[in-house]
This record gives sequence, structure tokens and C-alpha cells, in this order.
Amino acid sequence: MRKEFSMLQSSPTVGFISLGCPKNLVDSERILTQIRAEGYTLSAQYESSDLVIINTCGFIESAVEESLESIGEALAENGRVIVTGCLGARAEQIRERFPEVLAISGAHAYAEVMTALHHHLPPPRHPAGLVAPGEVRLTPRHYAYLKIAEGCSHRCSFCIIPQLRGDLVSRPLDEILLQAERLAADGVRELLVVSQDTAAYGQDLRHRPAIWQGRPLRTRLLDLATALAELGIWIRLHYLYPYKVLDELLPLMAEGAILPYLDIPLQHVQPQILRAMGRPAAAEQMLERIARWRQICPDLTLRSSFIVGFPGERDEDFAALLAFLDAAQLDRVGCFCYSNINGAAAQQFADQLPESLKQERQQQLMERQQQISFQRLQRRVGQRLLVLVDEVHAQHLITRSAAEAPEVDGVVVVNGSWELEPGDLIEVEVVGHDHHDLFAEVADPADEEE
Ligand code: SF4
Repeated sequence: MRKEFSMLQSSPTVGFISLGCPKNLVDSERILTQIRAEGYTLSAQYESSDLVIINTCGFIESAVEESLESIGEALAENGRVIVTGCLGARAEQIRERFPEVLAISGAHAYAEVMTALHHHLPPPRHPAGLVAPGEVRLTPRHYAYLKIAEGCSHRCSFCIIPQLRGDLVSRPLDEILLQAERLAADGVRELLVVSQDTAAYGQDLRHRPAIWQGRPLRTRLLDLATALAELGIWIRLHYLYPYKVLDELLPLMAEGAILPYLDIPLQHVQPQILRAMGRPAAAEQMLERIARWRQICPDLTLRSSFIVGFPGERDEDFAALLAFLDAAQLDRVGCFCYSNINGAAAQQFADQLPESLKQERQQQLMERQQQISFQRLQRRVGQRLLVLVDEVHAQHLITRSAAEAPEVDGVVVVNGSWELEPGDLIEVEVVGHDHHDLFAEVADPADEEE
């Protein structure tokens, strides 16, 4: 995901490129908010910028390559570039290729980025009157990412996020809730709760007590989700490691307080592969838990992601993964080929699989899941759904229901020309589907009365 930012022209002017995942996007929003608060102008064009900041991603090799390409492009087009974000942790790799980069800092190093900016492009002396108030957001007005923690205390052998972003550091509960309130008051209709490990929220703070609106709460996901639900807008939780807290969240989903949507990156199901990956949870338990969750909350949407071709993955391990998908009937699945990441423990593992086998398995898994997802969508034809309008076009609307997260899932396409705005909620009836998306008509209220 690449986002560029533009605003009304004045000077000094900063160009900004945000790469990578929603967590990085939130960092970009924070840096941009500070830059604007100090009176800088933001620009989407290299030519009109005095300097370009690139917030990079370094999660997998393709992301590293994209980040390096963006740095190269910005240097060629503008010449004055500051690099921050995940790839910043590998400063020597950047310097080797681009010695002319002005400054490099790591992930969520807000102060360092600002110091580098002040050094290379001092802020305007009299910004008052030019400064636009409020937070800069890179998402449409009606939804926003809410980051509740930085870093991760796990040590999955294929991942270098803890090296890049450090151990889990949870934000104080009241600080998050204040921000959520502000966003809701600003017109946000859906909050997407993100972090590297959302289910672990508050563990580092030993779930310390907190006071919110005179009420005693604890710094943990269940209390946070309960308080967020009171805002009366959609609350969607992303990146939930399969801890026990998930079971506690299900009643909230069943009663409609938060969206009945679980995004759990399982990565694999075979115990020895999970052990080598440094991750918990056995497949049978997962299947039992999924069955129980669906009993409690029949409308639950389940999304997960898997890695195929991990070192030592045998044919029977992969077959077990396919069997799990058949049994679990997940709604949406992402699948990545294992790739060695510089500095990750698994890079040293024996039994690395050939690229062709990884790709073959990825294709096989996606084909199998495509059938499952297709059938899951088929079951929704005829249902009435409450959908959030994302885009209004001349002859159709792009909307999403509780089952579709923005950017990663499909959409609900609603036929017709309607005087609606992004952020409106409407009721529709599903009339068809393809492999990803649903097609719907605006529901006739009279039908419901009959
Ligand atoms: S849970 Fe594992 S994969 Fe996810 S960020 Fe933490 S170490 Fe990386």
C-alpha cells in the first residue's frame, strides 16, 4: 500500500511517501500531523517539495525492494531524502545503495524524523495562521486505523518485527479511548484497531487499572473493546494472535457491540511447523474453538493468513494444512510463500524448500480456498445486510458489511444511483456474488414489514 499526501501550497514544503501496512500508515499520520502542526506545507509532487520523507516497510524482501526503489526514485526526482520506518533499522543496507540519503531512522522514531527534518529544512518562523488544526489522516474520512500498541514480544522465527520495532509497548487505555472519541466526533464511522499483536494488548502493563469516565477498567483488550463499543460506531479488530482473550470477545461480537470479525494470522496448523515458527496453538484445538465461536456468534467472519514452504514443511504437513482449510471453512485467507528475511532465525534453518515448490503449494492452497470462499459468499445471497458506503459512483455504490475489512477483503457492490455519502449506513439485500465480492440491491423497507 503506497500513499502520497498533498495539501495547499506554501513553504517550506515536504513530500511524504508512506509504504507498508496499516500500522506504518498510523506512524505516517502521526509524523504528518506533527509536520503540519509546525507550519510546513505538504505536497504530493517531488518537484514542488523541498525535501521528501519516505516511511519505509521492511517486512519481507519484496517490501524491502519496493522501499529501496521508492528511495531511488525520490533521490532521482528530488535529491533530498529522509528515510524512516522499518527499513531504517537496516541503515547500512540503505547507505550502501544510496549514500546521499540525508538521514535514516527506524520505526516509530518520531522525534528522530523531526530532528532530521528541522536540521535539513528548518520550520517556518511564523507558522501561526498557516497551520491547519487537527490530525492528518491518510484514510477516507469515514474510517480510521487506531493503533493500540507498538512492537511485539513474540519471537516468530520467520519475522524480524521485534528487531525492527522492539517488544510490545501498549498505549494507555484512556489515551486510546480519547483518540477514539475524537475520531468518532470527526465523522469516523468505523475504527480499525491495529497493532502487531492486538490480543496481547496490556500484557506489558500487567493489565494495570485505569479510569475511564469515572469507571474502573483494566488495560486489556476486553475492557478496551467494551469501552470502544460505547462510541456507537463500527469497531473491527485486526491481527489477533489466538490467545484466550479471543474467546472472551465472542459475546461482545454476538450482541453486536463490536463487529463479528476475527482476523487471526494462524500461519500454519502442523505442531512441528508451528514449533519451528515459534508459535503456539494446535490445529484440533483451533477447529474446536472455531466451532464454539460459530455457535456463540453465527454471523462471525473469519480471516486468516498462512505461510507455505516453511523450511522442513513436508508433503504431509502441507496436506494437513489443506485438510484444516476444508474443516475450518474460513471466510477469507491470505497465503504467502515463505521467504528468508535477513536477520530472521529461520534463515539459518536446514531443509529450505525450492522456490518452485513453495509457489506450487501457494497456488494449490489458494485454489482450494477460493472454492471455500466462493461457497461462503454463496450462503450470503438473499441475506439483508447493513453496509457502510465507501464510494458513491454514478451507477453504483461501493460498500462493505461487517464481513469485509477495507483494503484486504472484497466489497459489496450496490446497483443504482443514490444520493448518499461515504460513511452512510444503508440496508441492502444480497442478490449475487463472484469470487471476492457481493452484489446487492438497496433493501425495500416494505419487504421487512410484511
Ligand atoms: S507475532 Fe510473530 S509474526 Fe507477528 S509481529 Fe510478532 S514476531 Fe512477528
